[in-house]
Amino acid sequence: MAYGLRTEHSSVPSPFSAGTADILPRERAGASFDVKQLQQTLYGKTKDGPSVADEFRDLFSGPPFNDTDLDSYRSYEDKWRTTMKRTSAALEIVRTTPKLMVAHKQQRKVNMGDLFATGSLGIHFSMFLTQIKTQCTEEQQAMWLAKSERAQMFGAYAQTELGHGSNLRGLETTATFDKATDEFVIHSPYLTSLKWWPTGMYCCTHGAVMANLIIDGTDYGFHGFMVQFRDEDGKCMPGVEIGEMGPKINGKITNIGYARFTEVRIPRFNMFARASQVTRDGEYKRAPPKLSKFKYISMMEIRRDFVGWSSTYLGRASTIAIRYSCIRHQGYLDNESPGRGENAVLNYKMQQYRLFKALSLAYVFFWNHRFIGQYLGKIQQGIMDGDDAAADELPMLHATLCGFKVFATVIAHANIEECRKACGGQGFLSSSGIAHMPAELAEAVTAEGEQVILSQQLSRFLVKEVRRVRAGSTPLGQFAYLKEKPMQPLRLTSYSGALVEILALMKFRAQSCAMKLEAAFSAAEQPGHTFENTLNEVAVIAWKAAESHTFYAFLDNNHAALNDYAKDPACKAVMGRLLELSALQSIRENGGDFIDVLDGKQLDLIMERINTLLTEIRPDAVSLVDAFGNSDVQLGSTLGRYDGDVYEAIYEEAKKSPLNQAEVMLGWEDFSPNLDLDFLRDGKKVQHAGPGLLPNSHGAGSSMAVAASKL
Ligand SMILES: Cc1cc2nc3c(=O)[nH]c(=O)nc-3n(C[C@H](O)[C@H](O)[C@H](O)COP(=O)(O)OP(=O)(O)OC[C@H]3O[C@@H](n4cnc5c(N)ncnc54)[C@H](O)[C@@H]3O)c2cc1C
Repeated sequence: MAYGLRTEHSSVPSPFSAGTADILPRERAGASFDVKQLQQTLYGKTKDGPSVADEFRDLFSGPPFNDTDLDSYRSYEDKWRTTMKRTSAALEIVRTTPKLMVAHKQQRKVNMGDLFATGSLGIHFSMFLTQIKTQCTEEQQAMWLAKSERAQMFGAYAQTELGHGSNLRGLETTATFDKATDEFVIHSPYLTSLKWWPTGMYCCTHGAVMANLIIDGTDYGFHGFMVQFRDEDGKCMPGVEIGEMGPKINGKITNIGYARFTEVRIPRFNMFARASQVTRDGEYKRAPPKLSKFKYISMMEIRRDFVGWSSTYLGRASTIAIRYSCIRHQGYLDNESPGRGENAVLNYKMQQYRLFKALSLAYVFFWNHRFIGQYLGKIQQGIMDGDDAAADELPMLHATLCGFKVFATVIAHANIEECRKACGGQGFLSSSGIAHMPAELAEAVTAEGEQVILSQQLSRFLVKEVRRVRAGSTPLGQFAYLKEKPMQPLRLTSYSGALVEILALMKFRAQSCAMKLEAAFSAAEQPGHTFENTLNEVAVIAWKAAESHTFYAFLDNNHAALNDYAKDPACKAVMGRLLELSALQSIRENGGDFIDVLDGKQLDLIMERINTLLTEIRPDAVSLVDAFGNSDVQLGSTLGRYDGDVYEAIYEEAKKSPLNQAEVMLGWEDFSPNLDLDFLRDGKKVQHAGPGLLPNSHGAGSSMAVAASKL
């Protein structure tokens, strides 16, 4: 039974429509560039953009995929069962659609998460498959790779434990070699040794389990082992206890788990042996140094992926918030004459400052993801071709990409939440599509390298690089600033057209923070202190130095990418404005970092330039978010719809609540004994509804619709 009135797409306000249909088309008509042209600039060819998934969308439009709008109302168990049904149906579609199989698996152009809610199983295709591809021998791959690729077995990446995550050397799970039986015994000796947090754990049949290898009492540190979790009946294997962890910050995730191993015996074959090996006699063979380089590369690729996800999330959040801010009108153009209409909230400068900041950062991450992808590809090729100079860049790239993962996710997370807040009350609604995003991206900040700990890889490198350069060596890559003279104070009269100086300011901050870090580090050094102890003494400066270097590298890469890829003048101009805005907002918000080169007057001029940029970006805002190419299905948002039917969609979604499906209020029998029912009865005698709407012409024509129209 339908509830309430039907809505319609219209430019004329009525009981059935908010009349907003013409707003976004008008916005689009005012852009200074062509969206298709910008998409070609971004993705090379339009068909390689995020819309590739659209080609397969119809396959995922029927049951069991077509009731995701009800997911928020499901119980924990029902959510899980629905996830399993959808996953199975999706796997069948992939198996029987070769074109999708190629686009998804070989070309990596289709992310399954864009087609349906995958329930955390992406980890199987990312971390687990990567382990098999990079850490297993050919014989091991013959056993596990094809089955994993065909999804006939599913795997988790089980490293973190209840008692230890960041401190890898503190992991307690053991894999003890038993020479007599040629087996490893996988064991969780303490409560704190339980594997805790692995994504996908609950439904995975197998896991890449990280455990300390012990041979004849000697501990060789942690290694990877293939362990089967469940048998053919779905029961835990002998000695294995698998569980799900319970509700988490992101209510959608019901598939993160724990595992306890009680003397689980696996064949020696199951130790990942591409690098290190254990012979039949129990001899440990170390990995040749060259192989560790490939391990570096696969880690760097995963870190680069985080930059891409940060762009995708931030792009979607800014799409929702910017489109909604055009539809949402609040406050009169002229308080004296309310009849002249109201302001779109996007016309308010604070709204622009917050949302264009998110938008420009989404583009910064987009360009970096693309730019580094090409760079990493060249290095990888160089190493495969035996070019030692290419391999020399790996430590520098590793440190840089640790910073990229940390600051892309931290910045994206904060700005997605800002976009959510910028949607006011509607940003709390699940149907907004933005309410759950901060919780979703919170995972990326912590998992795969906790922010503070991973940033220390870069700050450690910075201390060493400053010292290396001071000793006469040539600085590597973007650390070249370590050899440059310090910047002189800037005394510009305007920041218009000053991109060179603005980027020089970012470089200045990176340089001065790196120097300050090394100086503080040297001052904190004491006999008997380890490098880590000393770094901890200067940890706050270390974080700042890592952040400053990373932000400089982000903007420098963005600038280089525009020079390389953006040929259309209008597209290049609008991309340049966003780049400039990102840099200037960072300078303004961190004015103290620039105290040696900028005075108060300069900071005022920077604020003036920011205001001008906000005004210049305003007419392009909707087209700039359109260019990300997110479909309505990908956004899953009532507020960010392409057609601008925001109010209609919010109302339609609310009608679906299970509480709205009956004429009598749910729970009335429990609640009503508290009430004065005679008083309510009397009220009904004096309060009437007029003829009003004719629900039969527009509404559902049911008694429910009549009831709703009377409310
Ligand atoms: C949603 C989600 C999914 C995950 N998926 C997986 C998975 O698939 N597989 C898997 O193995 N793990 C997974 N993890 C675990 C994740 O990798 C760890 O939680 C993460 O590495 C942080 O480790 P921790 O929890 O031990 O935090 P802790 O290390 O205990 O951190 C707590 C605090 O202490 C600080 N701290 C700790 N050590 C230091 C130090 N040396 N210096 C300065 N500060 C320090 C940290 O900055 C942090 O603020 C997942 C986690 C989450 C949240």
